[in-house]
Amino acid sequence: MVHDEQKNTFVLKGIGVSPGIVIGKAYLFDRYDAQVPLYTLSDPKLITVEIRRFRKALRESEKQLLELKKKLSDMGGGMDPLYIIDVHIMILKDRKLVDLTIQNIRERSVNAEWALRMTIDKYREIFNRMDDDYLRGRISDIQYAGQRILANLTGGKRVVLDPGESVVIIANDLSPADTAQMKIDKVLAFATDIGGKTSHTAIVARSIEIPAVVGLENVTKVVRTNDEIIIDGSAGLVIVHPDLEVRKRYEGKKRLFEKAQDDLLDYAHLPATTRDGYSVEIGGNIEFIEEIPSAIAHGADGIGLYRTEFIYINRDELPTEEDHLANYRSLVGVKELSWATIRTFDLGGDKLFSERHPSRELNPQLGLRAIRFCLKEAELFKIQLRAILRASALGKLRIMFPMISGIEEIREAKRMLFEVRAELLAQGKPVGQDIEIGIMIEVPSAAIVAEELAKEVDFFSIGTNDLIQYILAIDRINERVTYLYEPLHPAVLRLIKEVVEVGHRAGIRVAMCGEMAGEPAYTMILLGLELDELSMNPLAIPRVKKIIRGSTLKESKALLDKVMTLSSTEMIRNYVEKTMRKRFPDEFPKNAP
Ligand code: PEP
Ligand code: MG
Repeated sequence: MVHDEQKNTFVLKGIGVSPGIVIGKAYLFDRYDAQVPLYTLSDPKLITVEIRRFRKALRESEKQLLELKKKLSDMGGGMDPLYIIDVHIMILKDRKLVDLTIQNIRERSVNAEWALRMTIDKYREIFNRMDDDYLRGRISDIQYAGQRILANLTGGKRVVLDPGESVVIIANDLSPADTAQMKIDKVLAFATDIGGKTSHTAIVARSIEIPAVVGLENVTKVVRTNDEIIIDGSAGLVIVHPDLEVRKRYEGKKRLFEKAQDDLLDYAHLPATTRDGYSVEIGGNIEFIEEIPSAIAHGADGIGLYRTEFIYINRDELPTEEDHLANYRSLVGVKELSWATIRTFDLGGDKLFSERHPSRELNPQLGLRAIRFCLKEAELFKIQLRAILRASALGKLRIMFPMISGIEEIREAKRMLFEVRAELLAQGKPVGQDIEIGIMIEVPSAAIVAEELAKEVDFFSIGTNDLIQYILAIDRINERVTYLYEPLHPAVLRLIKEVVEVGHRAGIRVAMCGEMAGEPAYTMILLGLELDELSMNPLAIPRVKKIIRGSTLKESKALLDKVMTLSSTEMIRNYVEKTMRKRFPDEFPKNAP
């Protein structure tokens, strides 16, 4: 897997004012950007011309500053302004600033203005990292000197902002004048420090139908031009330097969002009931609490999977019990949700935990992740358990343990849960009476001993993302083996069927919360399996509901029975595709990829 280990993923929360998802490059918009044109130098000879222009602009800037200094000193008064001018002159002569700009011209074949802008951005990045407030503020001197050089380069002409490629605009705020200066067809999304639902940025974004998140407070401080960035205008999130896992999730969400756009939303709030009256509960999978409104808007009856490991990202310190509680509080009180399943954190493997990850493992998917990690780091785990139990006093909650591989692990996790519960009660802290306990079935051994595990818990939730990777022995994030990742492999279907039957025989609820649950092509198969709950990316819900409402349990069971007799993945896939195409020609057009 190749991805940038240096830059950690982090998330900013703001106000989503225009829905949609965009994955792209950031472009930090300063007002003086309007004077910064970009063009690439088609002829290598032009490089010398640009360097000469740059040096000339430096000389002119110095001359102007010296004249200004003289004028001020002739006027008398304090020494401060003169001193500041000296600082600006020093900046113009700074070897690093000059060399870096020339290097940008040479290596990137860009015009002098753009090369200088890149240099200033670099400085801003360095200064932003400084601990000392005073020093951090000194970036303004560099910007001031930079603006003077730019003005000399462009001759003060105003230029329409054209970043070349399509970008996500990051700004403190955007006035009508700012947006008027942009080549709007190059703007993928907006993210701003300030603003609300009715701010100009929001209105423009909605009218041109691009996602926007405002009120982020410090997005201009922490995002740099060219940073890789995801804007989720529906959830009000900005994700910077997304790692492969997050990127993949959002690519999926983006596709789903686009698909969900049309008339599908009509289905969001209709019951997930087949034409012959069989109902299945629909959950939403969320990574951030801010996604709850989106889950509700897309028709989730409850939250089937809250991936709490995301609480651990974007921090220098580990989250405290109160941090956890603050998150869970937002989950329990929501009247539109009939249930909420908090999955204890699943860190390790491909999951985000770069900073605190105990060590890099050779084979992280088979390593110390999820419940294994939690049982080992008991004190860390107890912080989360305490918060979940305290939240359970405020409303109905389900707790779910990931990656359980056998009876010992669930017993140990429960023992810790009860221990923490007793401690809380002894401290006079209220806890809920009836928290339901469940496990994810995502390790083949758990599926095989499901009968024993069912005696220990109130529900199962089948995590097909991992279950498939472990059944088929393929790393789920290794793009070289994705062709083998096959939910319709007979081994996968047989094992899932077995788990549902065992769970139902034991009288417990069986859900599915892996991506498979949200893939409409599999919906009839899943109906045939009689899962109690399908929990998915909220954006997938309307389409899945559409299929459920157009099917019958009877035909779904017949489909399942038929595919269970087929021996190869290819045969199953062909059969399922043919059936779905026949039954839902609009949803599965013939030439669809
Ligand atoms: C799964 O494995 O199917 C699952 C839902 O969990 P995650 O994707 O977070 O590992
Ligand atoms: Mg999993």
